[in-house]
Amino acid sequence: MNRRGEHDVVVVGAGVVGAATALALLREGFDVALVEARPAPTWNAADDVDARVVALAPDAVALLDGLGVWKSVTDARACAYSHMRVWDALAAGELSFAAEDRGETALGWIVENRLLQHVLWQALVEAGARGAAIQLRVPGEVTAIENDERGVAATLADGSVVRARLLVAADGATSPIRTQLGIAVREHDYGQRAIVAHVGIERAHESTAWQRFQPGGPLAFLPLVDGRCSIVWSLQGNEAERVLALGDAAFCAELGCALDFRLGNITSTTRRLAFPLRMRLAERYVVGRTLLIGDAGHAVHPLAGQGLNLGLRDVNNLRGQLRRAKARGIDAGAAQVLRRYERERRSENILAASSFTLIERCFNSESIAVAGLRGLALAVADKVTPLKHVLMDAAAGRL
Ligand SMILES: Cc1cc2nc3c(=O)[nH]c(=O)nc-3n(C[C@H](O)[C@H](O)[C@H](O)COP(=O)(O)OP(=O)(O)OC[C@H]3O[C@@H](n4cnc5c(N)ncnc54)[C@H](O)[C@@H]3O)c2cc1C
Repeated sequence: MNRRGEHDVVVVGAGVVGAATALALLREGFDVALVEARPAPTWNAADDVDARVVALAPDAVALLDGLGVWKSVTDARACAYSHMRVWDALAAGELSFAAEDRGETALGWIVENRLLQHVLWQALVEAGARGAAIQLRVPGEVTAIENDERGVAATLADGSVVRARLLVAADGATSPIRTQLGIAVREHDYGQRAIVAHVGIERAHESTAWQRFQPGGPLAFLPLVDGRCSIVWSLQGNEAERVLALGDAAFCAELGCALDFRLGNITSTTRRLAFPLRMRLAERYVVGRTLLIGDAGHAVHPLAGQGLNLGLRDVNNLRGQLRRAKARGIDAGAAQVLRRYERERRSENILAASSFTLIERCFNSESIAVAGLRGLALAVADKVTPLKHVLMDAAAGRL
């Protein structure tokens, strides 16, 4: 903290994106405060795999590795997947990816959100114990912020105030800070809910991520280390309600059928959770000395498993901008620094969100003509190697 009681950066929200931002900036030598409304997440190896898992792309893993936390994740629990298969319920044609086609061992890793948060928090706590400049305000809820030319002040629910040169809002898809700043949001309600559960399967998952597009929404089966799969089944509102209300046996029977029995029968299921699906794109990422990051700036459809990966790309970009600014003696909250982050990240995030919406609309159509084109597109993408490599590189964060 400087003589005016000011940190370099205050990060609001310690989901995976906020916690990774705080750790990345701490490692760059910034003085950081991290404020999170909820208590610290716990994770125990003895507990069942947590309901929320994400598919992490190689560039996200490289970021976490560079922060020194990836080994803790793989030592705890993570499932690498080396193949991916995508097909359509209404048309022939299938797209399959293999990590070995790009000379790699994995296309990505399936990891529990809670575990990611836990290892990032532990790294922050350990850094603090070794004397690094990190202040954790947990639980602490930011209720108001005030931006001026010199700095930004965040007021917490207990009345205390945290001051910094820059405030990073990592407060999620419904970002209260975005609302307080009056940033407009482009929204699209997909009219779908994503049903999430871990299920037992009759056949081996073969370290493969399976995705079947069907009218109403996509169905993904993601491999877990214990041989089960984590499913994300996007369904239109009424259909989601019906499927959520099914007994376990009926649910497993419908699910097996929905995946064309590619993995045989579904033998068990955990409790099902459901998430409403809505795209939210902030019209701006920067107001004064405050910027948006992660879902606060862009919440996208989970069909491509990219929401958190995009958020971690934001973190990487911001770290680079602030590192360069620091080397040149420029203030962390200077407009030119924040604008460059906004320009670079907003364009990529809008492009990604729009392409997921386009894919969702295209695969949602029951028209025979559209289905025929989809089947053709999958077959062509599968056969044209350069195109396939471009798609793989985009998903891996290498474009
Ligand atoms: C069904 C489903 C499947 C998905 N699968 C994938 C996938 O496979 N791969 C992928 O990359 N992404 C996936 N995603 C997206 C991914 O889960 C999100 O993009 C990611 O979790 C967003 O992280 P975040 O840190 O930005 O926000 P959040 O995780 O929402 O964290 C925000 C934090 O801010 C805190 N907060 C809020 N307000 C305040 C305040 N006023 N003061 C203090 N703290 C505050 C909250 O308590 C919370 O901890 C999926 C999403 C869904 C719904």
